[in-house]
Amino acid sequence: MTIESHILIIGAGLIGLCTADALAARGARVTVVDARPGPCEGTSFSNSGMIHPSQARSWVPGVKETAADLDAARVSVELAMRSRALLLEKIEHFGLPQRTSGCLQIQPDIETARQVQSVQRSIGVRTDIIIDPIESFGLPACRFPDDSSGDAQAFGCALADDLLARGVCFIYGAQDLLIRRAEDGFLLRTSDQLMAVDQVIVAAGVGSPDVLAQLSVRLRLNAVSGTAADFALPDDMSRLPSCPIMDAQSRSALTVFADRLRVSGGWGEIEPRAIIDRWTEIAPDLFSRLKPPLSTWTAKRPVSPAGRPYISATSVPGLWVNTGHGHMGWTLCAGSGELLAQMILNGRQDDRFTFAG
Ligand SMILES: Cc1cc2nc3c(=O)[nH]c(=O)nc-3n(C[C@H](O)[C@H](O)[C@H](O)COP(=O)(O)OP(=O)(O)OC[C@H]3O[C@@H](n4cnc5c(N)ncnc54)[C@H](O)[C@@H]3O)c2cc1C
Repeated sequence: MTIESHILIIGAGLIGLCTADALAARGARVTVVDARPGPCEGTSFSNSGMIHPSQARSWVPGVKETAADLDAARVSVELAMRSRALLLEKIEHFGLPQRTSGCLQIQPDIETARQVQSVQRSIGVRTDIIIDPIESFGLPACRFPDDSSGDAQAFGCALADDLLARGVCFIYGAQDLLIRRAEDGFLLRTSDQLMAVDQVIVAAGVGSPDVLAQLSVRLRLNAVSGTAADFALPDDMSRLPSCPIMDAQSRSALTVFADRLRVSGGWGEIEPRAIIDRWTEIAPDLFSRLKPPLSTWTAKRPVSPAGRPYISATSVPGLWVNTGHGHMGWTLCAGSGELLAQMILNGRQDDRFTFAG
């Protein structure tokens, strides 16, 4: 296709915005449409902030990991490392805070930590083991030095402003979106817009299957809820961990942002009580110093059955998908956007994240 083609992206979350960024940087004409009033108001709103190639293995519980799964995780680690490099560059460009000191993951004991270290190293994730009174609350933990962190929602808003200034069009509040195939592309209709476009990228997170169904394309995607609670920072900051810390048992994390502390995650939880209780158990001294949460939040992650994203063409010419990033959407957004832009504009053949429908 030529870069003069008009590309519509459905979804102004991290994935849609980063895809718009990569396409616009290559000269494409892009419009982003979203049902919500602004950018990053869906699952990308209040996540744990970790840019964590270390978590590329599937989080789907109860599935025994095979050699093929580990091969797949290795591929995801590669994309995550590329994505991380792109993201850190952009975060710096926008002058936003970032932490590049890694992430930790608490382990039940040293033996388990060693086992995790061995598997992580086998998929290309540098891992060491620490026990530190402040960083890991005195518990054994794996440290992943190549992980980073930053505020995903602040990044998404800065990117959306930047894209607007670079000529990308945004349509927010687009309720009742209808999409149809037309002779030379697609026809988009919302409550107050009618637009013809040449190509469509569905990056609508958990809304993606419904959008694709309008074009008779079936996408298998699970919606797995997660939750967050934000606390004001305690008065004594000297005893806070310097990087995000995860707990494998509750699939949650504690992250210190510039102006607040967040515990977030969970797999299927719709309110943060259990996660707060778990972190109170892990870090009783810290939680005794916190006031009640300032706010809480719940959202659904788009999770593919294999636990890997779909970054791919579909059976409909000109229709693409970029979704299914599960617990990895912040980590993978920039790399996924770049990969899809290369596929669309440069004809790059890449079947690592193919969607069969
Ligand atoms: C508690 C929690 C913690 C997390 N922590 C991390 C983390 O530390 N690191 C990490 O890498 N990832 C993390 N994630 C995952 C990450 O946040 C998601 O993978 C990512 O936000 C998904 O982005 P998205 O753009 O696909 O979806 P979204 O942000 O949901 O964007 C999709 C957009 O599409 C729009 N849309 C949907 N349907 C339609 C329609 N029919 N018409 C118009 N618009 C539509 C929605 O309004 C939405 O704005 C976390 C997730 C949760 C829930």
